[in-house]
Amino acid sequence: MNNMKLSEILKQDIRYKEALNACMNCGICTSVCPAAEFSDYDPRILLNIVQTEDDAELEKLLKSDFIWLCGQCMSCKTRCPRNNVPGLMINVLRRYSQELGYFTESKRGRQQYALNKVLNGNILGEGYCIVPESVKPDLHPEQGPVWEWIYRNLPEFYDRMGANLHKPGAGVLRKIDDKDLDEIRRIFEETGAMELQDAINKFSEQKAEDLGYDDMNQYFVDIFKGNV
Ligand code: SF4
Ligand code: SF4
Repeated sequence: MNNMKLSEILKQDIRYKEALNACMNCGICTSVCPAAEFSDYDPRILLNIVQTEDDAELEKLLKSDFIWLCGQCMSCKTRCPRNNVPGLMINVLRRYSQELGYFTESKRGRQQYALNKVLNGNILGEGYCIVPESVKPDLHPEQGPVWEWIYRNLPEFYDRMGANLHKPGAGVLRKIDDKDLDEIRRIFEETGAMELQDAINKFSEQKAEDLGYDDMNQYFVDIFKGNV
């Protein structure tokens, strides 16, 4: 992959073909894109850069915050008169930003480490994207004081709500069988998600070291809180 042009590397992803036919820069996608409304993100600019196939510009894009601002709502898909899908191209760019380690060059990109650790950790360990224990009050002040109380009383609270938190049998947040967790792990392995996770961890450890961290937990907390 090292000798390939970046534009050619991106085209290896099957989603590239569906995401870009030929963009005529009309800006309809930008007019419906919620991320463009509330940030500097712009799907029209995104596809314009991609279709130039200029490697220097593409590398800048992969190292920027820009590609992490899309919310994946796919409103752009329904409106583009050329059947382009900027939101899908974002997935291609994010994948290679992770695979090549460029994500560590931007603040929002570095958040991949925290997301990967929490969400994929939960999925592989518990079978759920979110488990209550992972919503730690000190990392989630937006949850407010009621959540702090719930967090201190998780088993009693979930029992009272009729859930089946981490227990065998049926019900909300029940314990997922080991054989099902093995299946999830195999899906991660077969689809390349495990490899991508390893790449995110490897490049994040390098970045943390470059920034002077000797404790990955502290790096995680600082990223989570938006300090780094
Ligand atoms: S992606 Fe589609 S809607 Fe957006 S600028 Fe290009 S042609 Fe227009
Ligand atoms: S998927 Fe992304 S680029 Fe498309 S409209 Fe939604 S936020 Fe914008």
